[in-house]
Amino acid sequence: MRIVLKECLWESMGDELLVLFDPREVITLGDPDGRVAALLTELSRAPQTAKSLARTLSVPEEDVTEALAALDSLGLVEDADSRTLGDPAMDARHFSNLAFFGTFARLDRPRTEYLRRLREAHVLVLGVGGGGSSLVQSLAGLGIGTLTLVDRDDVEPRNFARQFLYRHSDLGRSKVERAAEWVREYDPTISVRAVDRWINGPDDLKDLIDGVDLVAGGLDGDPEAHLWVNEAAARAGVPIVVGGMTRTQVMYYSVDPGKSACVQCDWENRADLGEESAGGFFERNRAGITVTNTLIGPLAMQIGSLVAYEALRYLTGLEPPVAAGAYIKLDLRDGLQPERQPFATTPDCPVCGGS
Ligand SMILES: [Zn+2]
Repeated sequence: MRIVLKECLWESMGDELLVLFDPREVITLGDPDGRVAALLTELSRAPQTAKSLARTLSVPEEDVTEALAALDSLGLVEDADSRTLGDPAMDARHFSNLAFFGTFARLDRPRTEYLRRLREAHVLVLGVGGGGSSLVQSLAGLGIGTLTLVDRDDVEPRNFARQFLYRHSDLGRSKVERAAEWVREYDPTISVRAVDRWINGPDDLKDLIDGVDLVAGGLDGDPEAHLWVNEAAARAGVPIVVGGMTRTQVMYYSVDPGKSACVQCDWENRADLGEESAGGFFERNRAGITVTNTLIGPLAMQIGSLVAYEALRYLTGLEPPVAAGAYIKLDLRDGLQPERQPFATTPDCPVCGGS
């Protein structure tokens, strides 16, 4: 393997070598004899194998291999020949995606591997309205290979404050048809399917969920729609990432099937309808609360991007999903600081059996 040093700067200071890779911190390495500095200098000159580095630096190859492993554990080196896809047009299209994943690349996990996983993924997007409109754009930007979009609404003037996929000339058109058209125009290499369908229960989702890698978005309309999505996805063993907004909180959560608690687990722990308490009052009235959709553009973009980034965690394994089995709530009254609230767990959950 030809190894290359990622973009970084270094300076020797006494017995130490200071390395600047991520502006958030300076890495300090012990380097009393200057051999690490010499290795970095050589690695920055051109991509090289451990063997050629050992020859140039006149040190045993096993010492070089050991030093490269240490640099790899710090995320400072990568496989020189797996930095691009090898197709100039695709490399340009995914320039920023590849640069982003370059930060996290390791010798055994090149930047192109993260992108390959996204390009091979099939995501089912439920709802292309409020959060869904920006979610579709974020997923398309990442280059998700296959998208199935589900919605039942048409484009209306009231959508324009927050749904930036749509234009005035789209008024009256099927949202999902227009959203699919947007994706095709944006990136013809993405395979996209529009499904104009009412969802009335978990069974209506079965054929859509079979074979997908992830479900993202969220259905509105019925207060229990999120339970249908949870159930259908749990049956299929597919993760879900859902986002939305209450009056003063932007929120998202995910369910990692077989690993995290699910939405039903949390639902089973709700207060009893007859309970004389704030919780009981809330449950008695949950279905009756009519809140005019208060979502505005900046917050819709926030939801779409948070859901898309959590989806990226699931699809690439970049890091574990942060919202698995928990609500992440960003409070408008608290500067949009995220707070993580784990779902209540239910050992005998009828949907997941109590992951
Ligand atoms: Zn459960």
